[in-house]
Amino acid sequence: MSSKQQLLSPDPPLRVACVGGGQLGRMMALEAPRLGIAMTFLDPGGIQCPCAQIVPHDRIVKGGLKDADQLRAIAQNCDVLTVEIEHVGVEILQELETSGVNVQPSARVLTIIRDKYLQKQHFASHGVPLPPFQVTSSVQEIQQAATTLGLPLMLKTRKGGYDGRGNAVLESNTEQAIQEAIQKLMPTSDQQQPQPQENLDIYAEGWIDYQCEVAVMVVRSSNGQDTVSYPAVNAIQQDSICRLVLVPVRNVSMDVRQECERVAKQAIDSLGQGASGMFGVELFVTQQGQVLLNEIAPRPHNTGHYTQDACAISQFENHLRGICGMPLGTTKLITEAAAMVNVLGAKSGTMADTLKSSNRAMSLPGAVVHWYGKAGCRAGRKMGHINVVGDSQEQVDAVLEELLALEGVPVS
Ligand code: ATP
Ligand code: MG
Ligand code: MG
Repeated sequence: MSSKQQLLSPDPPLRVACVGGGQLGRMMALEAPRLGIAMTFLDPGGIQCPCAQIVPHDRIVKGGLKDADQLRAIAQNCDVLTVEIEHVGVEILQELETSGVNVQPSARVLTIIRDKYLQKQHFASHGVPLPPFQVTSSVQEIQQAATTLGLPLMLKTRKGGYDGRGNAVLESNTEQAIQEAIQKLMPTSDQQQPQPQENLDIYAEGWIDYQCEVAVMVVRSSNGQDTVSYPAVNAIQQDSICRLVLVPVRNVSMDVRQECERVAKQAIDSLGQGASGMFGVELFVTQQGQVLLNEIAPRPHNTGHYTQDACAISQFENHLRGICGMPLGTTKLITEAAAMVNVLGAKSGTMADTLKSSNRAMSLPGAVVHWYGKAGCRAGRKMGHINVVGDSQEQVDAVLEELLALEGVPVS
């Protein structure tokens, strides 16, 4: 890693351009001015995007995240180019990097991460513990994988998936079941047309009967400083969308907690030079207490939002510090216990119903509302989140109970 240390340089401000202007970019933009950083965003929504409520409109560029011209445009006047999402025009970022643009994390790192199969291959070759997996580019290979890895089998698209879109569970090894799974994985194509049988961009993962899912936020600075992590947390999903995060992780031993943090740091360090800023590391803890890596994200992550209120330095500030080569901030908790609940668009799709949990949170002790300012509310869309901090787990749980009921999350 380069050992160049960047210190505050507010006049003129350090210029950071970000590909994507959604909620993650917005929460970076809220931290940036304190560090003397001025941000620019590229987003297909233009001034309708969540970042446009935070930065002047002449710093919002309207365009697709893979649009070569617009990527070149935002790269032109920046000191560092970063991303808030991995599904971007990485080939263009590679070209920009070659021509001298400071892309953080690097195009090479993004290339590995945005393709889940390449990610798995990379980590396997570096000894990071993983679920068993194999590439399945034809129906026949899926059948073979089901025989080798067993049923149920998790099929995943290599690129572009999020919130479980891009995953399909195969329960039986019949040709019909496989065809149905492939249809589910390719929802944008014409459902009337049979899907191709060959060259599918899919791979298969053995089913993990996990005890719980854990996430660890890891941060590295491009200045070469040692990698550090925030504490391990429970990441509780509903329909493959993160619903609830509990901090620090519960119901696992101290050994398992430490193993989660060790595996997460091992994974990010294995990416080598160019792995800078925040990384969200998603893990499975098996019934036997083994820790396996699910996937990583090269950016601030939903499971790290709690850091805004439970830590002195949030994941958004540490992302900016890391990509700019500044010294990293503390990753310690400043509260005994914390939680994060995602605010999803209500089933009715109305704003009034969606706002119920946030409005209630305004009167609950230790609850902090973070609204994203998205244009338009849809059932299931991530509209905001609520962090809860407290002096004990019991205190946090009492507040959570009400919020989860309003969000329609079953409390176990
Ligand atoms: P994200 O929104 O976190 O990017 P994603 O769409 O990339 O999610 P994954 O993280 O691959 O999807 O999987 C979504 C969820 O599906 C996981 O959090 C986990 O609950 C479940 N899952 C994924 N892989 C497996 C597996 N091999 N065995 C059992 N469950 C799995
Ligand atoms: Mg993912
Ligand atoms: Mg995931």
